[in-house]
Amino acid sequence: MERVYNFSAGPSILPEAVLEKAAEEMLNYQGSGMSVMEMSHRSPVYEKIIADAEALLREVMEIPENYKVLFLQGGASTQFAAVPLNLMNGNHKADYILSGQFSTKAYQEAQKYGDAFAVASSKADNFSVVPNVAKEEFRADADYVHICFNNTIYGTKFPYIPDTGDIPLVADMSSCILSEPVDVSKFGVIYAGAQKNMAPAGLTVVIIREDLLGKASSQTPTMLDYKVMADNGSMYNTPPCYCIYMAKLVYEWILGLGGLKAMKERNEKKAALLYGYLDSQDYYLAPVQKDCRSMMNVTFVTGDADLDKKFCAEAAKEGLVNLKGHRSVGGMRASIYNAMPYEGVEKLVAFMKAFAKENPKK
Ligand SMILES: *Cc1c(COP(=O)(O)O)cnc(C)c1O
Repeated sequence: MERVYNFSAGPSILPEAVLEKAAEEMLNYQGSGMSVMEMSHRSPVYEKIIADAEALLREVMEIPENYKVLFLQGGASTQFAAVPLNLMNGNHKADYILSGQFSTKAYQEAQKYGDAFAVASSKADNFSVVPNVAKEEFRADADYVHICFNNTIYGTKFPYIPDTGDIPLVADMSSCILSEPVDVSKFGVIYAGAQKNMAPAGLTVVIIREDLLGKASSQTPTMLDYKVMADNGSMYNTPPCYCIYMAKLVYEWILGLGGLKAMKERNEKKAALLYGYLDSQDYYLAPVQKDCRSMMNVTFVTGDADLDKKFCAEAAKEGLVNLKGHRSVGGMRASIYNAMPYEGVEKLVAFMKAFAKENPKK
């Protein structure tokens, strides 16, 4: 079978060149006589892999010196607890902007550990917009403000970085990390599950400003304590070795294409093609408010659940797979992460046109 265009929201498409390189090195990594999967994480050959991965990520994202990079496990969902455990320990207060399901889950998890406050929510709009929150609306004594920068399920993205003044801003960037340049210095913590735009599932990256380390509450599980992980170079225990190696290959691939500026251009071009088509017709409806549109996850519906179902089934026959929207939204969602080639979006738009023509609405 040919490779398909995989529009899955996550785990998702990886660059073909990266998969080929991994295949090449599968049985015998650079003369070590073994696969990266089989290596001790304490071996010099693996220590170089993780050190290179960190250096490359720092280069790709231009991460300032006063930030630590952690390679962890447990997915972004584990960070929903790790963030309050580590940071909600000054005034035991944190403000959350609810812009979708993941930020809501993060907020609910934080309520277990202290006074988590929903400062704004777009739930009433079915999360088709991102709340606009001004600095004065945050509680001045909050230990941090939490946002989900790109809302994978709804296809929205923050069109702005909230100004929180001196309050550290924590951002879940699982589905937009590495898609465009971001000013890391505006954030106290950035975290991301790797399986959307970075690597296979199993790795979670945390980027944290150093002054926020060492504030964990005493009941914090050792494995969730950022300082323990930072002090041990992400090797307090066995890290997700192979995922970190794959992430390293992805960082190299990004740099080879010109870094995040080039990624942004590629992604803008793909998103412009798809949204441009959506805006040019009235068969499909794109529910997201235009200024909040995600460049990574594009949602659309026909307005008829049976047609939506038929769309996904017929698209799959054409090698355009995993276009079904999240169960809470319905319709379709095309996740067009870094690794999705322009041709994949071209093929999708051509299919959308043909489907609309062949399936007139009653
Ligand atoms: C997928 C996703 C999550 C959940 O990630 P897990 O790694 O499965 O825990 C959280 N936040 C966002 C924005 C996501 O896209």
